[in-house]
Amino acid sequence: MADTQFKMDTKTGNILPVIDSDQVRDSDAQSIMQTYGRLPITLVKGSGVHVWDASGKQFLDFLAGIAVNGVGHCHPTVVRAIQDQAATLIHTSNLYYTQPGARLAEALKRHSIFDRVFFCNSGAEANEAAIKIARKYGKQKAGVEKFEIVSADRSFHGRTLATVTATGQEKYQTPFAPLPAGFVHVPYNDEAALTAAVGPQTCAVLLEPIQGESGVYPASKAYLDCARALCDKFDALLIFDEIQTGMGRTGHWWAYEHFDVKPDVITSAKALGGGVPIGALLARGASAEVLVPGDHGTTFGGNPLAASAALAVIDVMETEHLVSNAHAMGAYFLHRLSESPMREKFSDVRAVGLMIGVDLVANDARRVQSDCLSKGLILNAIGDSTLRLLPPLIVQQSEVDVAISILQSVL
Ligand code: PLP
Repeated sequence: MADTQFKMDTKTGNILPVIDSDQVRDSDAQSIMQTYGRLPITLVKGSGVHVWDASGKQFLDFLAGIAVNGVGHCHPTVVRAIQDQAATLIHTSNLYYTQPGARLAEALKRHSIFDRVFFCNSGAEANEAAIKIARKYGKQKAGVEKFEIVSADRSFHGRTLATVTATGQEKYQTPFAPLPAGFVHVPYNDEAALTAAVGPQTCAVLLEPIQGESGVYPASKAYLDCARALCDKFDALLIFDEIQTGMGRTGHWWAYEHFDVKPDVITSAKALGGGVPIGALLARGASAEVLVPGDHGTTFGGNPLAASAALAVIDVMETEHLVSNAHAMGAYFLHRLSESPMREKFSDVRAVGLMIGVDLVANDARRVQSDCLSKGLILNAIGDSTLRLLPPLIVQQSEVDVAISILQSVL
């Protein structure tokens, strides 16, 4: 393949790689397993809250790589950290000590209530680690009978066999049955159902404090209090999947802080590496001591390159006060939505920080997603009825205003 060439957009001075998007789509169609329903643009560059396609068209990215680009695209601090680390030591085995991983674990502890961290490469892997910790913890406490994991309907926890089984959505499970045993699902935010499901056989309750993939549904405090009390009563672990809600997205570092409920374990990924694949499990107390050498591991987990990227992400979040910006911009976005005449088109709006779900009266979310894309705004349709917006945490009022005006014109 020829070296990538670049061209300058003479109107904006923007330099973009020259890419034949038809050829890219043909190669994709012929050579990549077609597991994603891709939208018809080929993205070639990102900077801050914007991305550009092969034709030079600019988009406001209010999906942020599905909650990944929290510090925006190609933040110079993150780029520099990746470049420096790549030129120093990209990878070595987890059989040796390396500094970036140790420093990253300390930084995550500094911003949370947890004692120890396990690093992996994705959200699903972080949840796999949580499930394994819960199973071993249960066995240590009460033998092989204590192995059930209770999770919620409409949840999303990943695509590996165990995490798709924990996921409370049959459409992701049916093709892969039979599924691993020991997973029980209950309606979300239903304390009675949770109380009925949790017992001495339960080793963990696994919940998203705000369900993301299914359309931004926050838990009630009473529900999470109930989950904590049941876990305490039956000596089970309370695990919060913070893969989408964590790293500042909701206006706190972690969503559990909104509810004043302390989980035993949380899982993180997505925004942690700013786009470089990395996942983490954070545990406290006894759950932090369950895994011992040989129990669990992964070749790349917390390698110097990924850990350096994540350290730079945390540095940017601290120096640019992005957690409080997420809170302020989430409130501003909600205010702009509520004062706009288009609010009549909404049947429900749910927002916590910069995690925003909008239900549409007309059930035309896919049409809205596609029309917004044509007008230069990236957002996400969940089925026909719901829009999900997850802007980068660096977003400013003027960019929210642009998104609102595009949305208004489309609606
Ligand atoms: N858990 C939650 C709450 C998620 O939103 C996701 C991804 O969307 C996952 C787990 C799975 O993460 P990954 O795709 O990195 O495996």
